[in-house]
Amino acid sequence: MPTPDTAASCPCGSGDLLNACCGRYHAGTPAPSAESLMRSRYSAYVLGQVDYLLATTLPAQQSGLDREAIRTWSLQSTWLGLEVEQSEVLGGQPEHAFVTFTARWHDDAGEHSHRERSAFVQHDGQWFFIDPTVDLNAGRNDPCPCASGQKFKKCCAAYLN
Ligand SMILES: [Zn+2]
Ligand SMILES: [Zn+2]
Repeated sequence: MPTPDTAASCPCGSGDLLNACCGRYHAGTPAPSAESLMRSRYSAYVLGQVDYLLATTLPAQQSGLDREAIRTWSLQSTWLGLEVEQSEVLGGQPEHAFVTFTARWHDDAGEHSHRERSAFVQHDGQWFFIDPTVDLNAGRNDPCPCASGQKFKKCCAAYLN
C-alpha cells in the first residue's frame, strides 16, 4: 500500500489536509457522523485503504465482501471527485442515517459518475456502511445484523428502501 501523504489535501474534497480530515479516521479515530464516514470511505478508495473499507462495512456483511475486487477497483480507477449532496440523520436507537453523494472516476472503460443514497447505522459509537450489494441474511423477526439486540424489522429493516 502506498504511504499516504498526510500533508496533502484530503481526497474527499473537503478542502482540509488529509491528516486533519479522513486520515484521522483511517488511523483509527471513529468517524463522528455518517457523512464523515462516507467521505473517509471515498478517500480510502482513492488511497487503496482496503482494510478500512472492509472494517467500516456492517460487521455482519464483511465476510460477503470481495476483498480482491475492492482492491482492484480502488487501484485501477483514477478517482476524480466526490460531491456530497445531502445527509439525512434519521435518529432512532441505534441511530440511522442516509448520505446522498456522487462519486466520479475514470478507468479503462472511460469516465463514470455514480450517484447513490447510502444507508448507515451507528453501533457502540461507531458508524457503519450498510452495503446494498451484500445480503443481510435476516428475516424480519431475526436479531438485527447491526447487533443492536433489536429485531431486524424494528431496526435496520425499517430504515432501508
Ligand atoms: Zn476528507
Ligand atoms: Zn439494526
